[in-house]
Amino acid sequence: MKRIAVYCGSSTGSDPAYLAAAETLGKLLAARNIALVYGGGNIGLMGRLASTVLAQGGHVTGVIPEFFLSMDIGEIELSELRVVQSMHQRKALMENLADGFIALPGGLGTLEELAEILTWAQLKLHAKPVGLLNVSGFYDHLLKFLDHAVTQRLIKSKYRALLLESHDPQTLLDLMLAAHPHSTSSPPRIDPERI
Ligand code: AMP
Repeated sequence: MKRIAVYCGSSTGSDPAYLAAAETLGKLLAARNIALVYGGGNIGLMGRLASTVLAQGGHVTGVIPEFFLSMDIGEIELSELRVVQSMHQRKALMENLADGFIALPGGLGTLEELAEILTWAQLKLHAKPVGLLNVSGFYDHLLKFLDHAVTQRLIKSKYRALLLESHDPQTLLDLMLAAHPHSTSSPPRIDPERI
């Protein structure tokens, strides 16, 4: 796995464990030579994650819609910045660039990105691992909801199983590496240029 896209809060949250987890994951990615793909900017958990990877000598690609550039997203010198036209293009390009996806604690933006990337897996638009870093039980309610949706027969258990989960960044990365199909020969199914 060469690149992982991480979705996470543009805020830091109230529990210092969230920032600590962003830092641990950042160090781990750099140590394992896995490049980070993320939403650009230097705010919240996103900023801490990106700055940690960079400080450890890792590679960071930010993918940011043009309209964000005029907003206060924090100054940060990334290895690479890809500017796109829309949120839809951003998510498609992040999907194209990454070999797997991780969600850290976050708000609506993170939830939306996680739900979409899982939906694309369900539709077989990609076969890349998706992991949830459940720091301090932040996602317990979401996981319970997903289980409830399975018992209510609104999510198939094979699709529920697409979401790998752990409270520990290293364990989550190992689960994702084990699930990675090791095949990147097929062309991308989601073309950002056509959105
Ligand atoms: P949220 O979870 O609502 O804080 O949103 C964070 C997610 O949405 C990130 O993974 C980003 O891709 C995107 N996002 C939201 N706000 C920003 C921002 N100000 N700068 C860059 N990306 C953002």
